[in-house]
Amino acid sequence: MMKRKLLFATGNEEKLKEIRMIMESPDIEVISMKEAGICADIVEDGTTFEENARIKAKAVSAMTGEIVLADDSGLEIDFLDGAPGVYSARFMGVETSYEIKNTAILQKLSSVPEEKRTARFVCAIACAMPDGRILTCRETMEGRIGYEIRGENGFGYDPIFYLPECGCYSAELPPERKNELSHRGKALRSMREILRGEGIL
Ligand code: IMP
Repeated sequence: MMKRKLLFATGNEEKLKEIRMIMESPDIEVISMKEAGICADIVEDGTTFEENARIKAKAVSAMTGEIVLADDSGLEIDFLDGAPGVYSARFMGVETSYEIKNTAILQKLSSVPEEKRTARFVCAIACAMPDGRILTCRETMEGRIGYEIRGENGFGYDPIFYLPECGCYSAELPPERKNELSHRGKALRSMREILRGEGIL
């Protein structure tokens, strides 16, 4: 059987690993921008996760004429009015280490009580078709900002994101378990169902 190739518009290797674990099946192969030989510096100037995902998917689909998936994700902290939100990667500068970013967030929330530490990871996924159609979905993983940096798995803000129902930090979850629960895992599975419903997969 010929595998259906899906181009995923991300340069983030950690995300690609998660995406491959969720999306790859005997009939689906996920291709990265690097593997497709595409180098694009797309300006993510949308104000919502959905808008940024659509901008990326559309731009790469226009360049390649392929079906292209793109995601946009981030962390919303309620006490900070939803920040860093769509600026999660750019928060305190893209070159700044997550050790520094995570320490700064813990500091900002140092006197905030448990019930006001609510936060969520959000992931929007867009799929752009060569005919111009765009499909979008969005999912979240709800939790709280913890009190310390913990865990070796995951990336980004995982070491400060506490999951009450698991009794541990996101960075302490084995990768398979994180994929079951995560915003990106849920959004990818939703998109897989949407694409199946459309007869694309
Ligand atoms: P994007 O590449 O524009 O989607 O930026 C997403 C940013 O949000 C990442 O660089 C991380 O800082 C953060 N983020 C998104 N998903 C996760 C996750 O699963 N764990 C930890 N941080 C995440």
